[in-house]
Amino acid sequence: MTDRLAFNNVNVIDGLGAVTPDATVLIAGSSIESVSSAHTADTLPAGTRIIDGSGGWLMPGLINCHDHLCNKWLRSTPAPDYQAARLRRRHSNPGAHALEAAGNATWELRQGVTTVRELGGPGMEIGQEMFTNVDIRNAIASGQIAGPRVLASRLMVAMTGGHGTPWYGVREADGPDEVRKAVREQLKGGADCIKIMSTAGLANYPHESPDTDEYTLEELSAGADEAHRFNRLITTHAMSDSAVKRAIEAGIDTIEHAFLATPGGIRAMQDGGVSFVPTARVAWRMARNSPPALAGLLERASHRDRVLEAVDRGVPVGVGTDSRFTVLEEMETLVEYGVPVETVLKGATGTAAAICGLDDSGSVAPGKRADLLLLKTNPLEGLRSAFEGLELVVKAGEVVVASGHSGAALRPLPPPDPLN
Ligand SMILES: [Zn+2]
Repeated sequence: MTDRLAFNNVNVIDGLGAVTPDATVLIAGSSIESVSSAHTADTLPAGTRIIDGSGGWLMPGLINCHDHLCNKWLRSTPAPDYQAARLRRRHSNPGAHALEAAGNATWELRQGVTTVRELGGPGMEIGQEMFTNVDIRNAIASGQIAGPRVLASRLMVAMTGGHGTPWYGVREADGPDEVRKAVREQLKGGADCIKIMSTAGLANYPHESPDTDEYTLEELSAGADEAHRFNRLITTHAMSDSAVKRAIEAGIDTIEHAFLATPGGIRAMQDGGVSFVPTARVAWRMARNSPPALAGLLERASHRDRVLEAVDRGVPVGVGTDSRFTVLEEMETLVEYGVPVETVLKGATGTAAAICGLDDSGSVAPGKRADLLLLKTNPLEGLRSAFEGLELVVKAGEVVVASGHSGAALRPLPPPDPLN
């Protein structure tokens, strides 16, 4: 018999823009069976375990569109030490990376993040094997460690010496044919999606400057074509306006960052039908905490205005943290920028699912995965207070985090494994 769990007496934020007050959400196994304002305890199927939401708020689990589980440790590293710390880390051992990822995965799950798109972890050889974010995904999927579901990019694809090569797991590839081969290697190694580098970045400044373009149109097109032939999405780290436009022309699905884009770059996103993960908190922080020349470059580019233009133009804008900050902090930054809180919350749920190519997630609707959060207060009226009052996290129908929800009848632990 399928296990059934129901939340009643909840206000449902569906992740697509609608709110249903005083509803009941019925979960069967790992998926949502129904969302109804009519259900009462009497009309639920016999044997359903009921959690009284006490007038709280039920919403989809958060999706982090751009994460680095092995690098989250940098969240507390002051900027002057950032680069040095990263490089030190590069020489640390794979076991340390694995433990870091495990700790961060649990930490994010406890914050209500039920899916992350992991866009670049270590690529460390252990004997003949390569330790990558695919291993982190598999460890979580098989229940060895607690964490969100992981969509793994495996190694980033970058030009020789390109962005990421000093510290991440990078497959260096030059020329369209080799980029195509590099994409094939990631798919062979179990990648769910592809990450390709269009420009240099910030974290290796001044050794590289974010206004330097890296891959050519031919190289990006080969990567996009190869990913799409195998029904995978491809996303790109792109800072400059020219790189944003080039990536869109090449058929890349999502632009990450675009810290130096102009209004023309945002218009190109709209025209090209691509999505945008601005990682705004990183841009905001780096504009305040960088050497003057870099800070000035970021300040003049006014990323905040680009984010608002993207929202105004209807470009799907997703919430992604990159290697620092929490999903809550990124959402707060977007709200601070002037993005409506409804749009921000969709950016971490329904819109995020679309950006990541997940048909099964991101909304509270029949047939979707039961990745759900129960909050005491309405996040649309205050993100921080609501997420600080996070009571339950449900992942694929299982209550995986419960903090202080006294009335909830939690799923009991399975019976002990008999010794014979
Ligand atoms: Zn990143």
